[in-house]
Amino acid sequence: MNLIKFIKDFPNEHSCREHFRKVREHEGIICRKCGCTKHYWLKAKYQWQCAECNFRTTLRSGTMMENAKLPIRKWYLAMAFMSFSKKGISAKELQKQLDHKRYESIWAMMHRIRQAMGQRDSLYTLEGMIEMDEGYFGTDTSKKDKQNLKRGRGSQKKANVAVMAESTPLEDLETGQKSKQCRYFKMKVLKSHNSEDINELVKGNIDEKSIVFSDKSTSYVDIGQYVDVHVTEKSSKKTTEKTLPWVHIAISNAKRTLLGIYHKIKGKYLQLYLDEFCYKLNRRYFGNNLFDRLTVAVADNYWYNYE
Ligand SMILES: [Zn+2]
Repeated sequence: MNLIKFIKDFPNEHSCREHFRKVREHEGIICRKCGCTKHYWLKAKYQWQCAECNFRTTLRSGTMMENAKLPIRKWYLAMAFMSFSKKGISAKELQKQLDHKRYESIWAMMHRIRQAMGQRDSLYTLEGMIEMDEGYFGTDTSKKDKQNLKRGRGSQKKANVAVMAESTPLEDLETGQKSKQCRYFKMKVLKSHNSEDINELVKGNIDEKSIVFSDKSTSYVDIGQYVDVHVTEKSSKKTTEKTLPWVHIAISNAKRTLLGIYHKIKGKYLQLYLDEFCYKLNRRYFGNNLFDRLTVAVADNYWYNYE
């Protein structure tokens, strides 16, 4: 999908609705009342009816678009803008492009799309050899936080983000050349520096047969209990370059990308922006298919798969 194809395939609301219907039918409609997956399409009502209990499912219900009032074409345009550009687009810019009056509804829609991206990536656990480290992301502070900070120390709040990267061996044994392969990344805002939080993170995101590389941080003491092997190295410039190269490249790219578009991000929304960054990073070889994958992510049965 590119802009030319988008204009041709989605000229109006009807074409977007029909596409969304097909995506949902392909993924499977699940009855909220009885769990049945067999449905009939009621053309006149533009709804599905459960073959078992007659319960009806609307086009948007159960998906990320549930209760959203914006036309589906605006959602499609948002997904197009978010997936066509490598870096992303701000809500302000998208509002301008969509010629939409209210900033808030565009902003909320984009966060829903980011949520869909994050939930899609949460379906995968990292496996094999994994680099793990933390990065500090500057975030914007609320008025109340600012008052507290004035009394205390520092002027900006920093969010602690755990970054994990699945990496294959870095050096080709024959040529000695560094390979540039790295598969999936995950970035998670940490609530604290406690090892309990790190343990939960490892349990939820990393396969137990994995080998994890990290520095010797005290919050990583228990990681070995949840994975096959945990290799630690004292943190230095050399560790950064040799042992944990991918996480550091990802951290600096994420900071540059987020800062370039948004300037300031409130701490409570940082995870959503990181979700978008990782979703696109993990699909960096998808090319033109990214848009189609995104429509599938938004059409997913959220109440069923994630709650
Ligand atoms: Zn039913």
